[in-house]
Amino acid sequence: MSQQSPHEDGRRATFCRICESFCGLEAEVSGGRIRALLPDGANPHSQGQLCPKGTSFLDVLYDPDRVLTPLRRTGGPGEFTPVSWDEALADIADRLASVLRRDGADAIAAYLGNPNWFGVSAAMSSQPFLAHFGVWKTFSSVTQDAAARLLASHILYGSAFRMPIPDLPRCDFLLAIGANMLVSHGSVLTAPLLREDLDAIAARGRVVVVDPRRTETAGRYEHIFVRPDTDAWLLGAMLNVIFQEGLAQLQGLAQSTVGWEQLRDAVQFLTPDIASDHCGIPAAQIADLARTFAHTPRAVAYGRTGTCRGRFSTLINVFICALNIVAGKFAVPGGWVFGDSPLEGAMPFPSGFEFRETRLGAKPYVGNNLPFGFLIDDILTDGPGRTRALIVASGNMVLTAPGGRELEQALDSLDVFVSLDLYVTETNRFADYILPCTTFLEREDIPLTGLAHMIRPFIQYSDKVIAAVGEARDEHDVWNELAAKLHAHLCAEIGNSRYCHASAPHFEPMAVMDALLRGGGVKVRDPAGVEQPLSIELLKRYPHGLTLADNLTCSNSWSKISHEDGRAHLWNALLDPELERMRATPVAGPGELRLFGRRAPLSINSWMHNSSRLVKSQFPSLMMNSADADARGILDGQRVEVCSISGSMQVSVTVSDEIIAGAVCYPHGWGHRGGWQRANATQGANVNELASKTPGDMLSGSTLLDGIAVTVRRIAEESARTG
Ligand code: SF4
Repeated sequence: MSQQSPHEDGRRATFCRICESFCGLEAEVSGGRIRALLPDGANPHSQGQLCPKGTSFLDVLYDPDRVLTPLRRTGGPGEFTPVSWDEALADIADRLASVLRRDGADAIAAYLGNPNWFGVSAAMSSQPFLAHFGVWKTFSSVTQDAAARLLASHILYGSAFRMPIPDLPRCDFLLAIGANMLVSHGSVLTAPLLREDLDAIAARGRVVVVDPRRTETAGRYEHIFVRPDTDAWLLGAMLNVIFQEGLAQLQGLAQSTVGWEQLRDAVQFLTPDIASDHCGIPAAQIADLARTFAHTPRAVAYGRTGTCRGRFSTLINVFICALNIVAGKFAVPGGWVFGDSPLEGAMPFPSGFEFRETRLGAKPYVGNNLPFGFLIDDILTDGPGRTRALIVASGNMVLTAPGGRELEQALDSLDVFVSLDLYVTETNRFADYILPCTTFLEREDIPLTGLAHMIRPFIQYSDKVIAAVGEARDEHDVWNELAAKLHAHLCAEIGNSRYCHASAPHFEPMAVMDALLRGGGVKVRDPAGVEQPLSIELLKRYPHGLTLADNLTCSNSWSKISHEDGRAHLWNALLDPELERMRATPVAGPGELRLFGRRAPLSINSWMHNSSRLVKSQFPSLMMNSADADARGILDGQRVEVCSISGSMQVSVTVSDEIIAGAVCYPHGWGHRGGWQRANATQGANVNELASKTPGDMLSGSTLLDGIAVTVRRIAEESARTG
């Protein structure tokens, strides 16, 4: 079956790009419109698995609130009028050129939101544009949920862009920390059959979930309650037990790592008793967990979002990697391994970390991301090099990043603010222009971000299923056009190669992908049985996707370490002050409450909250343990005020023993007041207003979102869930 053209009626194979699972979809097309999105049972990767967000995506595609023509701000926040693409791009180019002439590239910043990484068009084109004009002040959602993961990879493996994954299909003991895998569907992990994989592990061994809440994942498997933001104590103590009891694989450590003695000495103070005081897990259970982990041949520790949003996130992520390596679980089947990306041979893996000197002091620069709070300060602090222009692609920072009202004030004070988006959001209502972009159903793609994280190596090409709706354009077309108006010709620099198009002054990301695939070194058999290098042309002959291998190689993970000495570095002097900070941290006192976040199965940050079928059953509330509620005289459903040093919110309470005492939790991405009517009608508050713009994890510049100290007090006698 070959790919059909956009507008052709019939069933069209494609894949979802809302999250990292990249599940196979079939789109029912008639008359140029998609009538239904269905699971693709012929997709070998997802085998018909699909979550409700995937099938609900039609609500976004044909949403009457979707921005389908360029908008120019004409008044206060949220007041826009439609303009032509030419008019918008010409004015934006003039204004950017004027900022560049007056203040240079230091005065331009960019924020690339999470959806940027889920499609080739956006992921491949923003960087060439920014690099061409020397824009280095780049920000993203990474400092809200992944910077520590990247920094740990820089320390351990020599590149922030090398991220190991758990080899779930062959694992017998999975220790999942801060990861609600059944709801997130995997993060830094592409495994659309996750439930089946976890069930299979539980059937032959154990899945142990460490979380302050009995999440959907914890409830299905074994659960250990932990206090928010204390994973560093648990993991450090497990490492200590493994070293003290002779369970470390010392021969392997001596041969393949450096710094293991420093790591051993660093965690020596972390006895299970000390860790227990902090994390609330009994000392005997911590020691037993360490022993079981070490003794199980096919075991792996995996941590995700919850491990990246606390005060010691870099230490935690280093400890997770170290635990796997010290116990001999790295580069082995069922353990902690690097994926087998078909782009492996064509991609560079630079260090991805440095401290950048800025006009407001040195800042961590992790995977090209500065701490988010710096953006606010840089806009609002007068002086040479101050940010005056901001380009935001698919980012709704007002609901998903710290800063609250100060962030809004900063956004509204810019000379130029351009947003590429699908909606008028809480963030881009302050923009000068909103430029409408295509959804994944309107553009061609491969699952770029997932290629290195697939637990079963797989690749798929999808052509656009339908032509762009309205005047929406692919992101790369927008960056190209803007560059052209600024008299620039975009090229991608990847490793030592430069990808330009001599024949047309137009940067084509899919042509670059094709070159990378051909240069990646992977060969497969075409449908006629002839071996060929991977290419887009070849992939078009497999519309439901192509399985590249049944399992991960695993043993090649050591060879993928980017450090010059080829070894894993288990300690780095950067961690010394972090360890001291941790040692000086007191145990949480009685009555203290720590706020952390949670994911909802039908939400994906803030951006699908205009889908009625997804939000109609969602009523965000503050989850609180019954002991904490009783101590404050709070009943289920009552309204409360939650205060931190940065802000406050009024919400209703759900009293539940699904959450550990001493903590409260609330989902993020709510509190809508943009140009999306259904979202605006939802209940809930913007929990990120309680977050400080000062990083919680100093080393990675990550925002403190899990473990914010709060007070909660009842504000009204009201039992209905009204907010
Ligand atoms: S799990 Fe992710 S990729 Fe799969 S359908 Fe849901 S949102 Fe889409």
